[in-house]
Amino acid sequence: MNTPLAQAVIVGAGPAGIRAAQTLVSKGLRPIVLDENARYGGQIYRQAPENFERSRKTLYSFEAGKADAVLNAMQALMPHMDYRPNTLVWNAEARCLDLLQNGQTSVVHYSALIMATGATDRVLPFLGWTLPGVFSLGGAQVALKFQGCAIGNSVVFAGTGPLLYLVAYQYAKAGGHVTAILDSAQLSDQLSALPDMMAQASVLAKGLYYVAWLMAHGVAIQRGAMPVQAIGDASVEQLIWRDQHGEHRIDCDAVATGYGLRSETQLADLLGCEFAYHPADRAWLPAKDSAGRSSVPGVYLAGDAVSIQGADAAEWSGERSAWALLMDQGLVLTDAEKARIQTLDQHIARRRTFGAGLTQAFPEPTQWPALTSNEVVICRCEEITAGEIREIAQASGALELNRLKAFTRVGMGRCQGRMCACAAAELLAHCTQQAPSQVGRLRGQAPIKPIPFEKALNANTEGPE
Ligand SMILES: Cc1cc2nc3c(=O)[nH]c(=O)nc-3n(C[C@H](O)[C@H](O)[C@H](O)COP(=O)(O)OP(=O)(O)OC[C@H]3O[C@@H](n4cnc5c(N)ncnc54)[C@H](O)[C@@H]3O)c2cc1C
Repeated sequence: MNTPLAQAVIVGAGPAGIRAAQTLVSKGLRPIVLDENARYGGQIYRQAPENFERSRKTLYSFEAGKADAVLNAMQALMPHMDYRPNTLVWNAEARCLDLLQNGQTSVVHYSALIMATGATDRVLPFLGWTLPGVFSLGGAQVALKFQGCAIGNSVVFAGTGPLLYLVAYQYAKAGGHVTAILDSAQLSDQLSALPDMMAQASVLAKGLYYVAWLMAHGVAIQRGAMPVQAIGDASVEQLIWRDQHGEHRIDCDAVATGYGLRSETQLADLLGCEFAYHPADRAWLPAKDSAGRSSVPGVYLAGDAVSIQGADAAEWSGERSAWALLMDQGLVLTDAEKARIQTLDQHIARRRTFGAGLTQAFPEPTQWPALTSNEVVICRCEEITAGEIREIAQASGALELNRLKAFTRVGMGRCQGRMCACAAAELLAHCTQQAPSQVGRLRGQAPIKPIPFEKALNANTEGPE
């Protein structure tokens, strides 16, 4: 390379971040890798706590081989990078990140940054969703994978997306009782998506296996079904749900709910990356070129953080973004490296076709805003209901999400909109008769996750590392 690279920093030690780090290290760089989790692996390869190890076969099932490859690669990198677990990046500015590690704030400077921050659940609220016993789908999986416990003895899985069936399968396989799966998508959606999903036939086969296994074990799967109300005194005891035939009740002591995933984009937002609306994801996502370069020079985007494409694609795009970073620093590629990049690009393109199939198979339930009653809490941090959002949007004329936030405080609480922004946007679009793309997106604000107040005040006085 022509110019020595001062410092590359990677945020996120999931499959995308790990493959990015491996690529940088292979060319002699020593990246700093930051992750708020105690152990590396990200969401899919989340590891159990050190004092509660279980075999990789138990934790990852069919994915144990891939988990081995990714986690062992990270382990081998340890002497060649500066890996910082338990480190939250809570603010980002040009060339500088604010960190909170084990209760201490610090600042790290970078000359190139790969953002591999992953995703969280996309939640669509219903009456009673804030009752104890109602979890997000991802939360339900974390309980099982990390702590080895179930969220209840009799669990209903409600929402849509591949994770719905995967987590239900994981619960049933681990000995949990799956009372029902309520999928808002129709079987016809799923059948018509099969041709596109053949682009990754082995992944499709796994999905079909989970569904077949659940059915063979007597788990009821209802399609075109949406939760209406979780009922209970101290915690959930029943779920009312509806389909085309009307409303039904089911006894349960836990509900896991989620409608796909939403990318964690706040840091990219704070850095001033350009965003574009993606109708298939019903989300504003940071713009990037095919190699992962954002609109801000020196900032690269990889994995679920920029597009929900799953674990394999996260590995490919993590590696791809690292090659882009290296090339921008003056690396002249060998023929073998050029061929590798071409292969990565082909894999990523094929995964995009598969992703289009997934969107078709598990579409957003666009009827959700119309079905949501005024009493439903949308922003649980600030306790803002659908009725308040509708009323204030009408009274104030707020057509845009940040205006709505100013009038209602929706998205202003501890989660900073990570849980409620999707639902608030859908609701605002519906009640003001706009397309979801027209209501915009909540602007990122630091701290992007809760940190102790005194730390936020002192952070900027602690100086560079
Ligand atoms: C809860 C959940 C469970 C999932 N389970 C599965 C599964 O079982 N099978 C499957 O195929 N797919 C699963 N997925 C989809 C999964 O996200 C991808 O397949 C894959 O893990 C994406 O890899 P990634 O590296 O892009 O992101 P991730 O694996 O999500 O890794 C991102 C990492 O960034 C870290 N991070 C994020 N923000 C910050 C910050 N501000 N500061 C510091 N660190 C930060 C996180 O702690 C995390 O370790 C799951 C997704 C979620 C949200």
